[in-house]
Amino acid sequence: MDIDDLKTRILAGERRALARAITLVESGRVDHRAQALALLEAVKGHGRQALRVGLSGTPGVGKSTFIEAFGCMLTGRGLRVAVLAVDPSSARSGGSILGDKTRMERLSRDPGAFIRPSPSQSQLGGVARRTREAIDLCEAAGFDVILIETVGVGQSETMVAEMSDLFVLLLAPAGGDELQGVKRGIMEMADILLVNKADGDLKATAVRTCADYAGALRLLRKRPQDPQGFPKALTVSALEEAGLANVWDEMCGLTDWRRAEGHFDARRAAQARFWFEAEVRERLLARLSREPVKGAMRALAGQVEDGELTPSAAAEELLSTHLMMS
Ligand code: GDP
Repeated sequence: MDIDDLKTRILAGERRALARAITLVESGRVDHRAQALALLEAVKGHGRQALRVGLSGTPGVGKSTFIEAFGCMLTGRGLRVAVLAVDPSSARSGGSILGDKTRMERLSRDPGAFIRPSPSQSQLGGVARRTREAIDLCEAAGFDVILIETVGVGQSETMVAEMSDLFVLLLAPAGGDELQGVKRGIMEMADILLVNKADGDLKATAVRTCADYAGALRLLRKRPQDPQGFPKALTVSALEEAGLANVWDEMCGLTDWRRAEGHFDARRAAQARFWFEAEVRERLLARLSREPVKGAMRALAGQVEDGELTPSAAAEELLSTHLMMS
């Protein structure tokens, strides 16, 4: 693969080149990995910065309807929009239920948009790395907004929040009891809560639900990276495309404030550090479960069981000899 050519075409904003590059970073082949790293290194320093928006919500809440409507509104304003999906279920089912082009038909035909479904990869760690790299590539390709979609299960929300500038939680209109169901930790991660389906018969419930969430948000500890009034709860109707311009205005307002206060760059720096440390940990753990380290560990465990070595001496031996760390 001609990495230099691919780089030039990505920087020129070619969507086909971007798709190929993402396939390259998703590949598990050792030679592909080396090429992917070379490519990521080559496109670095382009000086472009997209707004990375994480978006989560349970299945059926209206994520794809929202992304389609919101994405089309943004492209209509001349912005280029990329949609990436992190789908923990795709590893099991082999197919992705997120970022599916058939669910975002209008946006997928839009020349200003790029949609990429989730890679079907078993380890969340692997998905995290690939998604981060895909974000970097989309940014290099000059996309203005990158929407990173995930479902509200397990660790995927935390992961997406750690790679986003803004985190948005999409919610359904519901009674007070269901409000309790949103985990506090997720509320604390969110910058904007969107109560969707504020239309027709559901409108009044949506407005009430939104007020309930706003009340719950006021009880959270104020974060230094937030201006007055954030995190915020808003109502939208993805179906009727109502409230979408307001959502964008709020996102821009928050982002402008964070940039001016230095929080935007600080968050990205902290995220880069977080992912560096996470990758080191993850790769060390991966080495422990691979031969020959695994075999050495087994042998040393036997010696510990037989009382020939103390646990500490065996650990020292494993780390210094087999992992070359001391
Ligand atoms: P996802 O699973 O979160 O991606 O949800 P979908 O976007 O597929 O939407 C699930 C269902 O909710 C579909 O039948 C949508 O038509 C419907 N839906 C999505 N947004 C709205 C909305 O704003 N109002 C109403 N009334 N229905 C909506």
